[in-house]
Amino acid sequence: SAIPMPRGDLSPPLLSFEFFPPRTDALEAQLWACIRRLEGLRPRFVSVTYGAGGTTQARTHATVARLVSETSLTPAAHLTCVGAARGEIDEVARRYWDAGVRHIVALRGDPPAGQAYVPHPNGYAYAADLVAGLRRVADFELSVAAYPETHPQAAGQDADLDNLKRKLDAGATRAITQYFFDTGVYLRFLDRCLAAGITAPIVPGIMPVSNYAQAARFSAMCGASMPDWIGRLFEGLDDDIETRRMVGAVIAAEQVRLLQANGVDEFHFYTLNRPDLTYAIARILGVRPAADAASGAEGPG
Ligand code: FAD
Repeated sequence: SAIPMPRGDLSPPLLSFEFFPPRTDALEAQLWACIRRLEGLRPRFVSVTYGAGGTTQARTHATVARLVSETSLTPAAHLTCVGAARGEIDEVARRYWDAGVRHIVALRGDPPAGQAYVPHPNGYAYAADLVAGLRRVADFELSVAAYPETHPQAAGQDADLDNLKRKLDAGATRAITQYFFDTGVYLRFLDRCLAAGITAPIVPGIMPVSNYAQAARFSAMCGASMPDWIGRLFEGLDDDIETRRMVGAVIAAEQVRLLQANGVDEFHFYTLNRPDLTYAIARILGVRPAADAASGAEGPG
């Protein structure tokens, strides 16, 4: 269907933003500038990823704890099964609960590059097991991952959908999707979820791309396809970051508005700790900073 004009007066969608825990002081400053910029948009929650194999455990915890103590935001901590015993994972979760964190994004996680996934002998084997385990730890709100293009290691489309259903039946209340660029792929996935009796929100994960080469590498690893037309739009722009950002913003803005026109009213943004594209796209979706919304003022410039 055609994309309607952005009107800015439709009831704005609910947003959530994903960050990754910073590795250096410079990246920490960048993350916090990003958080401050996006905070005013009053997202429903902001999530902080957990590095491969739990390698960022301390940094994820520190970032989430600081979100609790220094911002008005509701944090969600990502937690994975890889390489840890159930007791260790439960302990991490308990510390989150004690720090005031009430929302966890429960994931299996990936093995180190090039290795096959082998569950820890005393661990949670899959995300569905983790969800069940976390429900025993405390009354967390739990989100899980969903794959419109099917998880690369799934036995098949239907097996992967069964797995999503198991995660929700185990106590998760929402799924967040792997990012995708073909809106039709997501809408068909929603239809399959509904046909399978899934009623929980399947929130689309939106990845605003301004670095094509990086996004293409990452997409190849996680099973998200990059349509050829995106490659063509970025051709010849390697040394032109400004145009790449504008192109990336337009691609993502058209994507979210097409989704919005199809009734989607909740979006999860992979910010990569950079606020600008997400901020601009949120505005196009009709989401304004709190002060603007309160005064109703939209002064020029
Ligand atoms: P699961 O739901 O456990 O599924 C994994 C695979 O196993 C699927 O193919 C599934 O079909 C299959 N499967 C499930 N149960 C069984 C079974 N009983 N028998 C056989 N096969 C089964 N990774 C990180 O390391 N840190 C993060 O912070 C992080 N955040 C993410 C956030 C989102 C929104 C998404 C979409 C992904 C994220 N990931 C993260 C990546 C994720 O860890 C990987 O995609 C991982 O490979 C799968 O995790 P999962 O939770 O979807 O696994």
